[in-house]
Amino acid sequence: MQKFTAALIFVFCCLLGCNASDSARAQTQDRDNGSQSEIDPSLYLATRNFDERKAWAHLEKQVDFGFRVPGSSAHRACKDYIVAQLEPLCDSVEVQEFSMMLGGEDTRMFNIVGRYNLDAPRRIMLAAHWDTRPTADMNTKASKKLPIQGANDGASGVAVLLELARVFSEQDIEVGLDFVFFDGEDYGPGLDMMFLGSKYYCNSMPNAEIETYNYGLLLDMVGDSELVIRPENHSSRSAEIFMAAKALNDAMGFKVFRESGALTIYDDHLSFIDRGMHFYDFIDFEYGPDNRYWHTTEDTVDKCSKDSLKAIGEIVENLVLKFPDLYAPEG
Ligand SMILES: [Zn+2]
Repeated sequence: MQKFTAALIFVFCCLLGCNASDSARAQTQDRDNGSQSEIDPSLYLATRNFDERKAWAHLEKQVDFGFRVPGSSAHRACKDYIVAQLEPLCDSVEVQEFSMMLGGEDTRMFNIVGRYNLDAPRRIMLAAHWDTRPTADMNTKASKKLPIQGANDGASGVAVLLELARVFSEQDIEVGLDFVFFDGEDYGPGLDMMFLGSKYYCNSMPNAEIETYNYGLLLDMVGDSELVIRPENHSSRSAEIFMAAKALNDAMGFKVFRESGALTIYDDHLSFIDRGMHFYDFIDFEYGPDNRYWHTTEDTVDKCSKDSLKAIGEIVENLVLKFPDLYAPEG
């Protein structure tokens, strides 16, 4: 039976073109079948340049600005902070401005993108949202209208991306990297008024640009002190990204990525998936018991941890370095 499984995996790998990612997939499948196969030894040779203290400082700084609700002074200050962090690190930094009627006000909004290796023909997008939700609609009745701090839902993804921007600025890598910070992900209250920045950004991309991406990764709610990331169903066409992250998680001694309990999440990745991009949403949607800190005034710095930023930061660092060619076109 085991031999038969191994043979099947071998055939499967060959069909896929047998690149590094396939070994990650094969190992995971082997484990599912109860065998004792080893993790690809090269995955143990991870780099660990991600500094969680620097990422943590970015998280705290964003929360210190106040509620990063579109149209607020905290929102503008946070936009300026992200741009100022990227400018010395990236080959280019662009701010894409757009305006929308929010709460009866014509509101300026900003997507921010920092790019590396402008001429690289193949690219990876690393993305997060930087705005925070104007209302704590999962609070109990009396306090539903309060804004949320968004230490996890907003600041954590940005914190990890900003530190990864530093890490990759000191590496010699061939693939092009685009760090994209979306505005208006969490405006709400309904889905029709969410993902505003990512929809605008995606709509403004010509097909030729979409086609340069091997894949995209979205980081959302990755600061939870009990970080758990499960498969995400809308991202399932890009399952090799999750498999590779899980293999790195295992090899590097983390316990963040779990194969059980897949979730279906509506998030900034959907517009890009609709246009044919490979995109995976790394999100922890178990924020506190029964997800009770999500979209509440409990989404505060004390619910997050440096260790969680370290785990997701180091795994994504190595995912990009070891698996840059996932979903690259043949040849
Ligand atoms: Zn949210």
